[in-house]
Amino acid sequence: MDELFDVAVIGAGMAGIIAARDLSTKGHKVVLLEARDRLGGRTHMDDACGTVLDMGGGYVHWTQPYTWSELKRHGILVNPPMEGGRHYWLADGAVHSGSAEEFYGIVSPLLERMFADSRLRFPLPFDHAAVDNAEIENETIEDRINSLNLSSYERDVLESVLSGLVHSYKDHGIAQLLQSAATYFGNYGCFFETAGSWGIQGGTKSLIDAILAETTARIFLSTPVSSIVDEGSKVTIETRDGRQFYARSTIVALPLNTISDVHISPDLPAMARSMIAKKNPTMAGKLWIRIRGEVEPFSIATPAGKYPLNAIRTEKYLNGDTLALCMCSDDAAIRAENAQGVQTALEKFIPGIEVVDIAYHSWVADEFAKGGWMMNRPGFFTTGAVELRKPHGNIQFAGGDISESEAGSIEGALSSGAHAARTVSIKLAKRETAQL
Ligand SMILES: Cc1cc2nc3c(=O)[nH]c(=O)nc-3n(C[C@H](O)[C@H](O)[C@H](O)COP(=O)(O)OP(=O)(O)OC[C@H]3O[C@@H](n4cnc5c(N)ncnc54)[C@H](O)[C@@H]3O)c2cc1C
Repeated sequence: MDELFDVAVIGAGMAGIIAARDLSTKGHKVVLLEARDRLGGRTHMDDACGTVLDMGGGYVHWTQPYTWSELKRHGILVNPPMEGGRHYWLADGAVHSGSAEEFYGIVSPLLERMFADSRLRFPLPFDHAAVDNAEIENETIEDRINSLNLSSYERDVLESVLSGLVHSYKDHGIAQLLQSAATYFGNYGCFFETAGSWGIQGGTKSLIDAILAETTARIFLSTPVSSIVDEGSKVTIETRDGRQFYARSTIVALPLNTISDVHISPDLPAMARSMIAKKNPTMAGKLWIRIRGEVEPFSIATPAGKYPLNAIRTEKYLNGDTLALCMCSDDAAIRAENAQGVQTALEKFIPGIEVVDIAYHSWVADEFAKGGWMMNRPGFFTTGAVELRKPHGNIQFAGGDISESEAGSIEGALSSGAHAARTVSIKLAKRETAQL
C-alpha cells in the first residue's frame, strides 16, 4: 500500500484503539493494524457458561481517570460486585472460614506491614523517578514476604490475598505492587477493590464499540505485523503476508511478550531490549465457573503455587445458577482442568457444591498475548518500562504492560495509549510547522 499515513498504530487492544481514536479525531490520517480477526486484545467477550462473559480484563473503577472519563463520555455504567458471603482460606494446609470482618481482621495488619513504605517509595505515583528506588527494584515479592518474619499461617494468609494478581512470588518485583498501593493512599485493599470488583455494564465490548464508533482510522484485521523500520523520513511496516504500510510515525501497542516477534530497526536501548527479552512473567489466567443453583455468596483465597484455584468469588446469579470467577496463578495447571477437577477443588471448601460448566481462555497459549496481565519482573518497573515509554525516533511504544499508571490494567492501557497519541500528535505538528 503506497499511501503514506500520519500514524500507523500496531495492535488494537485498549491502548491501540484509544490512540487511533484520539489521533484520528484530531485530524490525523491513521491506520490501525491488528493481528487477530477481532479488536480488544486481552479484553475479549465470548460465549461461555450459557451467557457472554469477559474472558480477559473486565474490572474497572471510577477512581481510574482515563477509564472513567471514557465510560462517562459514552454513558456506560458499572455493575456492583456481589455483596456479603463467607470467606474461606487455605493456610497451613487446612481450610479456615469466617466472616469478611474476621478474614480482614487477620489480613489487614499483614498488608499494612507489607506495604508500609509504598508512599515513601512512590510519593508521586505518576512519577516513578520522584525517589531513587534502586534499592528495592530488585526485591521480589517473595523477598518482601520473607522480610516480614511471618508464621507459616500468616504467610499463607498473606500469599492468599495476593494470589489473584501473581504467577509466582519469586518472579515478580515488589516495586509495581508498592506503586499500585501508593496510587490508592498506600492502601492495598483500596487498590484491590479497583483492580477486581466492578465490571462494565455490557462488558468490555460496549466500551470498545463506543470508542470505535468515534474513530476514522482505517482498520486492518488479521494483519500481524512482522517488521517495523524507522527510516527517518518515514516508517515502513511489513506484515507477515508481505504487505507494506508507510507512516510518518508509529505507535507500537503490542503486549510486551509479543514485541520480540517483530523486527524493529533501529535497535532499541539495552534496557528496553532486556525488558522485551525477559518478558512479563504472569503465566496466569481467569476461569469462569457455573455452579448449580443460587448458592450463598462466597470468597475463597489460596496461596499461589499451593492450590490450582486461587482467588475465587461468586459474581452473579444466572437463570437459577451461580457464576463464580477464579483467578488462577498457574495457566499450565488450570488449562488441564475439567469441570470435575474444578468441582473437586471447590468441594474442599464447600462440600456438596456442584459445578455445571467452566470456561477459560489461555492467554499464555494465545500467540498474540503470550501471557496474562502485567506484573513486572524485578529490575524493570522503574528502568526498562521507563526506557520503553520514551520516543524512539518515529516509534512510540504504548500499552498496559509498560504504563506509568496502573500497569497491568485497562486503565494502564487507556492512559498509555492516550499519552502516546498526544506525544505523537505534538511531534507531527512540530514537524509540519518546521516544514512551513
Ligand atoms: C485474564 C486477564 C484478566 C484481566 N483482568 C483485568 C481486570 O479485571 N481489570 C483490568 O483493568 N485489567 C485486567 N487485565 C489486564 C488488561 O486486560 C490489560 O492490561 C489490557 O487489556 C492491555 O491492553 P493493551 O492494549 O495494552 O494490550 P492488548 O490488549 O494485549 O492489545 C495488544 C494487541 O496487539 C495485537 N498484536 C499482538 N501481536 C501483534 C502483531 N505482531 N501485529 C499486530 N497486532 C498484534 C494483539 O492481538 C492485541 O489485540 C486482565 C488481563 C487478563 C489476561
